Amino acid sequence: MRHHRIAAIPGDGIGGEVIAAGIEVLQALAARDGSFGLAFESFDWGSDYYKAHGVMMPADGLARLKPFDAIYFGAVGAPDVPDHVTLWGLRLAICQSFDQYANVRPTRLLPGIAGPLRDVGPADLDWVIVRENSEGEYAGQGGRSHRGLPEEVATEVAIFTRAGVTRIMRFAFALARSRPRRHLTVVTKSNAQRHGMVLWDEIAAEVAAEFPEVTWDKMLVDAMTMRMTLKPRTLDTVVATNLHADILSDLAAALAGSLGIAPTANLNPERRFPSMFEPIHGSAFDITGQGIANPIGTFWTATMMLDHLGEAAAGQRLMRAIERVTADPALHTPDLGGRATTRAVTDAVIAAIQGDN
Ligand code: ATP
Ligand code: MG
Repeated sequence: MRHHRIAAIPGDGIGGEVIAAGIEVLQALAARDGSFGLAFESFDWGSDYYKAHGVMMPADGLARLKPFDAIYFGAVGAPDVPDHVTLWGLRLAICQSFDQYANVRPTRLLPGIAGPLRDVGPADLDWVIVRENSEGEYAGQGGRSHRGLPEEVATEVAIFTRAGVTRIMRFAFALARSRPRRHLTVVTKSNAQRHGMVLWDEIAAEVAAEFPEVTWDKMLVDAMTMRMTLKPRTLDTVVATNLHADILSDLAAALAGSLGIAPTANLNPERRFPSMFEPIHGSAFDITGQGIANPIGTFWTATMMLDHLGEAAAGQRLMRAIERVTADPALHTPDLGGRATTRAVTDAVIAAIQGDN
């Protein structure tokens, strides 16, 4: 029997509700499968921990996470703690320290879910967006001078390294090659930004030569928003910088029906460190404690975690169960226009797993 150790960090708000649901579903899946086991250890880090201790996680937090096979993460962010504290103090600290440079965001219209686009069904919208997750516009470089004075200047410098761009490009081409359509769209803004974005274009062409089986094209990020909404069928795998992919993946989540569905994986592809799996939504304090959070994004990201752990068959079984449940409008939570609870959706997914052959 194979064993996998998973660190669970529910975090804040609905993070606790969806991660609890995710652990139940994963344990049901392991029981149904019978050939692997999952051991979860839970860490109570987040905004409440910050209010009690002045830090989002203890000083040895990263060292404690390092031996795990994966990290299952809920959400962080609280109304009374500054966003940069919650984000940098936990989530980004993990991403940066464990060199999770590839952020992977699948987007599909699931059965039974009508996105906002007319005449677009599950066969027409099936993308994976790869976000560069370690440098670029969010490198934190820059500064301010003459604070508060009329001549004040602020700079926000994006950092693009040959090594950083090459590794994310290779990752994206390899991912594109593994998908049926074998097509990659490289997004930049190289007409207006003539240093870092031109480097992206050049490295894309170099890496493309290593992947002759993959067709590829280039898109400027502004035109990309139109292509996503007007010609979704023409896209498959997409790679973009930290900032561009951040924006495009929110658009993608909206086009696929709800923020509550969308999953993401923060991968350290070389497996020197654990990778982290989370729904893309935040802590959603407006609905916390009501039992109506949509757990589908947290279940979908669990399929990615299972893939990463080498349990692809179990991941596929879970995806089939998710799709059976989304196909039934009676099992839609309020964010999808329904009246179902987190509990009802979780029970239905577990029943679908147990009934799956
Ligand atoms: P963050 O800054 O952490 O991204 P945010 O406020 O931008 O947080 P969310 O916390 O994700 O974003 O919430 C945005 C909106 O989407 C809220 O109205 C919230 O209730 C809704 N929402 C987010 N996730 C879910 C979910 N899983 N189920 C139902 N509604 C959700
Ligand atoms: Mg947000």
